[in-house]
Amino acid sequence: MPDCRCGVSDWRGLREALRLTQEEMADRLHISVRQVARLEHPPHRCPREATIWFLRHMLRHSPYRDRLQAAGFPNPFEEDCTPKRVTGRMS
Ligand SMILES: [Zn+2]
Repeated sequence: MPDCRCGVSDWRGLREALRLTQEEMADRLHISVRQVARLEHPPHRCPREATIWFLRHMLRHSPYRDRLQAAGFPNPFEEDCTPKRVTGRMS
């Protein structure tokens, strides 16, 4: 998903791996349930930076981090700590 800024290709799978309801997910990401539902409808429109920040923060800590591992769901923020965005300002 080269045009996916948030790095999460499967929002529903992610939420299910976290064993959260849409309401709980919305609460943790500080967005509305409708926005969660929309994210789970591929192809999604990537959420705002703030939302990704909350998600990233959440997945870095237990129990969510452990739940992802237990579910065998790849942590979208695990493999590297560098921002996925390329600003193009480096040269
Ligand atoms: Zn995305």
